Amino acid sequence: MPSSAQTTTSTAWPEGVIARYLTVGGATVDLTHRMTVHNPPEPFATLALCTGCPASESVSHYYGAGSEANGTYKEVKRAEYATDQARAWAQSHAETCRALPRPTA
Ligand SMILES: [Zn+2]
Repeated sequence: MPSSAQTTTSTAWPEGVIARYLTVGGATVDLTHRMTVHNPPEPFATLALCTGCPASESVSHYYGAGSEANGTYKEVKRAEYATDQARAWAQSHAETCRALPRPTA
């Protein structure tokens, strides 16, 4: 039996990756949080990024609710929803992306 050391699933995940999906082409779709430049940094969006092709999807953790016209506008935080959306995008992209991962040499 060949060693499994060369499979992509056994390599360490890059720092900050919260989820990883294997594409049909053998690349990965990595989920990370996009951080603000504040100190301390806070996540403001969840990013799904394919390592095989240029496709990516960024889902904001905030959305505007209400109306500025009548003063009810406010930003609502929805981090879990945003990450769920990013996961769904990553899942469906992984099922269709046939791009090969870039060589790491
Ligand atoms: Zn892709």
